[in-house]
Parts: sequence; C-alpha cells; structure tokens
Amino acid sequence: MSKTILVTGGSRGIGRGISLELAATGYSVIINYAGNKEAALETKELCQKAALNEQQEFFIIQADISDEDQQDRLINEAFLCTGSLDGLVNNAGVAPKERKELLEMSTVSFDRLMHINLRGPFFLTQKITNRWKETSSLKGKIIVFITSVSGTMVSINRGEYCMSKAGLGMAASLFATRLAPEGALVYEVRPGIIKTDMTSAVESKYDNLLEEGIVPQMRWGTPEDIGKTVSTLFQGSLPFSSGTVISVDGGLAIPRL
Ligand code: NAP
Repeated sequence: MSKTILVTGGSRGIGRGISLELAATGYSVIINYAGNKEAALETKELCQKAALNEQQEFFIIQADISDEDQQDRLINEAFLCTGSLDGLVNNAGVAPKERKELLEMSTVSFDRLMHINLRGPFFLTQKITNRWKETSSLKGKIIVFITSVSGTMVSINRGEYCMSKAGLGMAASLFATRLAPEGALVYEVRPGIIKTDMTSAVESKYDNLLEEGIVPQMRWGTPEDIGKTVSTLFQGSLPFSSGTVISVDGGLAIPRL
C-alpha cells in the first residue's frame, strides 16, 4: 500500500478537500468522521476516483476525536488498516453552536470547543507520536494542524473558538520543537474564510465583507485551496521549516491601515 495519512474530520469541507488532494498526489487516506457516514462514504468514493494508482486505499473510521476511548479505537483501527501510519492531519473542529457576545459566553460552549478543537487533537497527536516511537520511528513522519486566522484575529462573538485555535497553534509549536530532533516535521496551516458547512450560516455576512474588501484576494477560500497546501507539505517541499505557520487566507490577516 502507498503511504497513508489520517485526516480527522475528513468527511466534509476542508477535510474532504485535503483528502482529495492527498489522493490525487498518490497517498492512501484514512477518512475520520464524527457522525456523517454518508459524507464520509462520498469522500471515499471521490478519493477513489482521484487516486493515481492501484496501490492506494481509502478507509473511513467513525470516532469522536474529543473522546479518549474513541481516540484509542481510531488509532488502533488506523494502525490495523495500514500497518504503519505515515502522517496525521488534525483538521476536525467545530464552531460554537450559537455565536454569543464575549460577556455572555457559556461554560458549556467553552468546554465543548476546548474539548473538540484543542484537547482532542493534542492528545490524539501525543498518542500517535508515542505509537510511532514504540513501533517504528518518528523519522519522516509529518503532522499538520489546521488552525485558523481566528487564533490571532479577534471575533468577540465567538471567543471560545478564537481561544481554542490560539491554543492549537501553540500545540503545533510545542510538537514541532519536541519532535524535530527525532526527525518528524510539524506544520500549522492557518485558513481564512473558507466556504464550507461551517461558514454556511454566516454566508451573506461574509459575502458583504468580501465585497467591502476584507480579503485582499477578493474571494472565498475553498477546501481545495487548503488541500493543495497540505498536499505540498506531504510532498516534502518544506523540509527545513518545521513549526512554520502557513496562511491560506488570501491576505486576510495582513495588518492594514
Ligand atoms: P465543517 O464543514 O463543519 O466539517 C467539519 C468536519 O469535522 C466534518 O468532517 C465533521 O465530521 C468533523 N468533526 C466535527 N467534530 C468532530 C469530532 N468531535 N470528531 C471527529 N470529527 C469531527 O468544517 P470545516 O469548515 O471544513 O472546518 C474544518 C477545520 O478547519 C476546523 O478545524 C475549522 O475550525 C477549521 N477552519 C475552518 C474555516 C472556515 O472558514 N470554514 C476557517 C478556518 C479554520 P462529520 O461530517 O461526521 O460531522
């Protein structure tokens, strides 16, 4: 089998875009999803169509990455499918169910976001890293964290999302530093405003902001934009840049006067 990458939240949106680009560049992909099996199966089918050769295989595995038992099952099944995993893309994430002003944010929403967006990917990465150390080595392994411009740009009506993504950016830096001497590369990919189910509820708001010029490149980002960036990283094109942040935001985060 060809080299295999686990993409969390690979069933829809950005995760689907990443899975498809990895398939189109010769990788096998494990598509993790939380509950939407239909979307995961559709991504699998699209990956099969996009694949370059017959050595590539595509798997779907349901697991809530914020649940420790489900994390363990995901890792066991992923290693069973593939023998040895070659890389991990921490993409799964959620927005608050309801956007609430900072002074009204609930502890329930804060905890949900921290569990899914930060605690989940941190411990999943820790466990997979330890499995690699036990079974093979870290040399050549690649880990990507999908964070957000919201890790540095403030939105006072979804502060818990901003804080979870700021924390995830630090997790990427921590793993990059810890794993570099052992030969693993870790990158942070920081998307801007991307057209997916996550942003569908605020589509017209962002359409207006785009028209007003909030994004210098004057368009929505697409899952394909993120997928192309991530697949470039897996092709080994940034071999001396562990820990770097790659913005995929059309210039949104450039400080302007
Ligand atoms: P999306 O369209 O809502 O898709 C979310 C994906 O994550 C789905 O595949 C979903 O699985 C999965 N997921 C959610 N909770 C999960 C859990 N607990 N365990 C496992 N999988 C889970 O979101 P998206 O826009 O593609 O966002 C993907 C990532 O990019 C997120 O981390 C998000 O914060 C980040 N991001 C998005 C934007 C944007 O503008 N869209 C911008 C910056 C960063 P199911 O299909 O089973 O529900």
